Amino acid sequence: MENTGAQAQPGRSGREVIVVGGSAAGLFTATSVARGGRRVRVLESKPQFEPASRTLIVTDHFRHQMGASARESIINEIRRFELFTDGRSAQVALIKPDLIIERSRLIPALAREAQQAGATLSFDTRFLGIGPNARGLRLEVESGGKHEELHADSVVGADGAASRVARASGWPPIETVPLVQAIVRLPKDCPPDTTRVWFVPDETPYFYWLIPESAERKEASGTARMARRAHSCLSRLGAGTATNW
Ligand SMILES: Cc1cc2nc3c(=O)[nH]c(=O)nc-3n(C[C@H](O)[C@H](O)[C@H](O)COP(=O)(O)OP(=O)(O)OC[C@H]3O[C@@H](n4cnc5c(N)ncnc54)[C@H](O)[C@@H]3O)c2cc1C
Repeated sequence: MENTGAQAQPGRSGREVIVVGGSAAGLFTATSVARGGRRVRVLESKPQFEPASRTLIVTDHFRHQMGASARESIINEIRRFELFTDGRSAQVALIKPDLIIERSRLIPALAREAQQAGATLSFDTRFLGIGPNARGLRLEVESGGKHEELHADSVVGADGAASRVARASGWPPIETVPLVQAIVRLPKDCPPDTTRVWFVPDETPYFYWLIPESAERKEASGTARMARRAHSCLSRLGAGTATNW
């Protein structure tokens, strides 16, 4: 997808910002920077937009921060948390509901907003390395199977937790935690506006939770340790078998 209209916009600064990574962080950044009057190009290594279906839970702040089309990715609201550990439980009512976002709707909506703001999106373009040059920064990329050099005044690394931009710029790798998410049927005793969270130190040092995304089904996610014990965890959730991983 190439937005050829972007560079023709009058009043846009000649200084180019390159954003590496065309997902939530990169597309949101591209929109903000393009609205500020800079030329923006987003490089995405994937050949096209196929964001995997996955739900995220975010705070109410999302409503005020995002544009109208991104807000259409909201599929449910959570008003209460139920916490379980060691045979005990507690309930926490939220003053403002948390929001359940469908990522496969959010990412295309953010892409549309970025393009409307004047950003160019280049798919099948993988960032390889970066260095200084007389004009600012020189980027090595692989685009459509060919090596290319690009030049930019500023580069934003939005290429995920294992960011190659960060590594190439000298930042140490950050610690990450593998996560697994499954779609399961909504247990009959669980209201669709309530998230359940289990703290079970014998199974995971973190937690796992059950987040309703609609009246019919829920998302369950946890750490890699949970993945290894997925079946026992899912039966603990009272949800039966995962319908989708
Ligand atoms: C199972 C699961 C559940 C989660 N649940 C929640 C939740 O409930 N709430 C929440 O807030 N967060 C949640 N998260 C975390 C959230 O999904 C991430 O923090 C968020 O998606 C990160 O977005 P991002 O844009 O920074 O990076 P990413 O989504 O990782 O995107 C990085 C992009 O960069 C591209 N890229 C990578 N390398 C290159 C390269 N060399 N050149 C060009 N492009 C490149 C990738 O193709 C990708 O499109 C969850 C994560 C997982 C895995």
